Amino acid sequence: MLSWDEDTSSAPAAGLPQSAAAEAPADAALVAKRVNADDKRIINGKTDVNQLVPFKYKWAWDKYLAGCANHWMPQEVNMQRDIELWKNPNGLTDDERRLVKRNLGFFVTADSLAANNIVLGTYRHITAPECRQYLLRQAFEEAIHTHAYQYIVESLGLDEGEIFNAYNEVKSIRDKDEFLIPFINTLTDPAFTTGTVENDQTLLKSLIVFACLMEGLFFYVGFTQILALGRQNKMMGAAEQYQYILRDESMHCNFGIDLINTIKMENPLLWTPAFREEIKALFLKAVDLEYAYAEDTMPRGVLGLNASMFKGYLRFIANRRSVQIGLEPLFPHEENPFPWMSEMIDMKKERNFFETRVTEYQTGGALNWE
Ligand code: FE
Repeated sequence: MLSWDEDTSSAPAAGLPQSAAAEAPADAALVAKRVNADDKRIINGKTDVNQLVPFKYKWAWDKYLAGCANHWMPQEVNMQRDIELWKNPNGLTDDERRLVKRNLGFFVTADSLAANNIVLGTYRHITAPECRQYLLRQAFEEAIHTHAYQYIVESLGLDEGEIFNAYNEVKSIRDKDEFLIPFINTLTDPAFTTGTVENDQTLLKSLIVFACLMEGLFFYVGFTQILALGRQNKMMGAAEQYQYILRDESMHCNFGIDLINTIKMENPLLWTPAFREEIKALFLKAVDLEYAYAEDTMPRGVLGLNASMFKGYLRFIANRRSVQIGLEPLFPHEENPFPWMSEMIDMKKERNFFETRVTEYQTGGALNWE
């Protein structure tokens, strides 16, 4: 048994407790500074962003894991039948070709805008490391999507200058991007910081525009068109790529909505009646822009689709997004004119709609599509 009264000169080990005792206050101070999950915040947090754990936002970590489990690469998809169809003068109608080109014209630059928004904007304003971890995965998925569109353009031998400049040269595409860019610019402006009600609302608005209107609405006419081609056994490779992209984007949209709702919960002062009115006006504007894009890409009926069918679909999606962030439906009683799109989004791991590739994923069944 130790006795602190003993002569320590013959017992060097006894010096240890003495030095440990001297360090004890410092250690205790450091221990007290360790991250406590309860102190974490999505924005304006003061905890160390380098420490992933202890988790507070488990939903963000779970989405990160699900995103990784769904990893895919564009070159895995065989484009041979698409190439043959595209080169065959009788393979597709002029309207179908216009639809494919206008469709790619929007998407080839859209995911670059999304990636820049995450990497140069959103990421630095988010102070929860588990959310940052998801954003890193999301940024890579946006790169994969840009790669997929480029791969389709290259496979079909399309005019790269025409497709990649569509966002400058085609009005219906430019109008969508001009709507988005000010919100992206806000987040990427090096002088912009959060910490006041006004700036936190600006951030929240940009997050809503990005998740609910860009990824959650502006992508859906385009996805529906290419998947409709696939349903008619046309452009099966492109359709398969879009199916994977749709699944990733659904998750981006759901992550964004969870992020928005958690920010609202942690900062209830931001969700004022005036702010909600501003958001509703943005939703209405976005529906108009996407409808104009539908008309421009489908000036006549094509694939059993026509622009006016999309009016209902866009209203249906806008309702869903507004309810998901706690607003009233903007267009009550809209039905989904394309129920098969919901099945696509619901793609289960055993499902292989186009039967071109085994869609086997480690944890695909664990996905929650809203
Ligand atoms: Fe995305």
